[in-house]
Amino acid sequence: MADDCLFCKIVAGEIPATRVYEDDDTLAFADLNPQAPTHALLIPKRHFADLAELSGDADASAAVLRGIRATADAAGLSEFRTVFNTGPQAGQTVFHVHAHVVGGRRMQWPPG
Ligand code: AMP
Ligand code: ZN
Repeated sequence: MADDCLFCKIVAGEIPATRVYEDDDTLAFADLNPQAPTHALLIPKRHFADLAELSGDADASAAVLRGIRATADAAGLSEFRTVFNTGPQAGQTVFHVHAHVVGGRRMQWPPG
C-alpha cells in the first residue's frame, strides 16, 4: 500500500466504497461522481501509479483486463467504454491506476 493513496485505502477497507466486483487481484467500485448509469472504477489491488507503470507488469496488466470484463458482466453490460486517464493533462486526478468502466447510455466521440 502506498502512503496516502485514496484507492489503496479503499482496497484496505479504510475508506468506504460501493464494491461492484472483486477478485484476488482487482477491485471495482462505483465512481462517486458517475458520468453514466453505470460508472465503475476497476483497480489492481497492488499500487501502480498509472497505466505506464502498470504496463511493466504483465500479470497485473492481464488481471486488470480480466477485471474490466468481469466488472462489465457484473453490471449487465455487453457494450461499454473503458478509459484510463494517464497524467494530469489527460485528466488523471488519482494516482493509483484505474479503468473507468462506463455504460448504460449512448456514448459520444471524441471525448472532451
Ligand atoms: P481520474 O480523474 O481519471 O483520476 O478519475 C478519478 C475518479 O475517481 C473520478 O471520476 C472521481 O469521481 C473518482 N473518485 C474520487 N474519489 C472517490 C471515492 N472516494 N470513491 C469513488 N470514486 C472516487
Ligand atoms: Zn494506491
